[in-house]
Amino acid sequence: MKDVAIIGLGCAAYTAAIYTARYKLDTVLIGEEEGGMGITAAEVGNWPGDMEVKGPDLMERFKAHAVSFENVKHQLARVESINKIDNGHSLVLQSGETVEARSVIIATGSNKRHLGAPGEDELAGRGVTYCATCDAFFYRGKTVAVLGGGDSAVEGAAIAANVAEKVYLVHRRDSFRAEPFWVDEVDKKDNIEFVLSTNVLEIQGDQKVTGIKLDKPFNGSDVLDVDGVFIEIGSTPATSLAEKLGCELDERKHLKVNPDMSTTVTGIFGAGDVTGGSNHFAQFATAAGEGAIAANSVFSYLQAGAEHSGAMG
Ligand code: NAP
Repeated sequence: MKDVAIIGLGCAAYTAAIYTARYKLDTVLIGEEEGGMGITAAEVGNWPGDMEVKGPDLMERFKAHAVSFENVKHQLARVESINKIDNGHSLVLQSGETVEARSVIIATGSNKRHLGAPGEDELAGRGVTYCATCDAFFYRGKTVAVLGGGDSAVEGAAIAANVAEKVYLVHRRDSFRAEPFWVDEVDKKDNIEFVLSTNVLEIQGDQKVTGIKLDKPFNGSDVLDVDGVFIEIGSTPATSLAEKLGCELDERKHLKVNPDMSTTVTGIFGAGDVTGGSNHFAQFATAAGEGAIAANSVFSYLQAGAEHSGAMG
């Protein structure tokens, strides 16, 4: 039986593993995809100590640090469920294999939110994508629309404008909620056009995207001709494993955690974007902080003995 199983392979999970390793805990890191949401960040300018670093490079360094410890096992696998057993929990993997651990840190991150517009599912991968910074490269010289008004959309539009001929940044409000740094970046690009106070009703195309239908005309037409649509309208926390186990969620459907990152289930801790633990502010810095706190709490929990858990009351 492991001391701790950390579910997830993103910023919070790798940070937690670095800490549990140094606490000399026998650790397994399990996730389906390496790097989490961090690998979708083209340019990270707010990771302290790095003036500018690419998300994939930063996540590669996190991973290398975590797996440099002999007591950290890194396993690529999908966890299907978490079940209570004597002295801990058992993780059931897609292969049927089980992994037993005295404690668990759920750092499953979040999934990109879908728009729910007609044409979206049909054209997914054929012009509809959910990561502007990852996919912009395929739209060199083309016209694309980026949907949303947060950091992902505004950063995504700035990156896409470096390769696409024309970028429409379509947002349902009349102002952006993104960091002013990124708003300045898109302001500077003369191939980005803002389509504000506008919703997208439909994504059009047969074999591939040809346009988006708007709820009001823009420059005289309610259809924008585009070759690609990057949907960057936020994400939803990946809580299904935690919910099945009986962990409570908060008012915004994130995994509910105490300041020590314990959840409502004894022996189960949370960290990163799946929780609302950092005022719902999803950043590399906050995810890393939550990972460190969760690891510290696991250490205390295991030292105190499973019967005397610090689970949320
Ligand atoms: P977000 O901050 O939640 O913003 C989502 C945007 O999409 C909002 O502007 C929202 O509109 C809009 N939206 C939501 N649902 C919509 C719908 N159904 N139809 C149309 N528009 C919709 O999400 P995010 O930009 O993905 O950022 C998530 C987190 O990651 C944030 O904490 C962000 O700071 C962080 N992040 C950081 C960086 C970076 O530091 N480099 C980069 C990317 C993301 P309203 O404004 O009307 O709500």
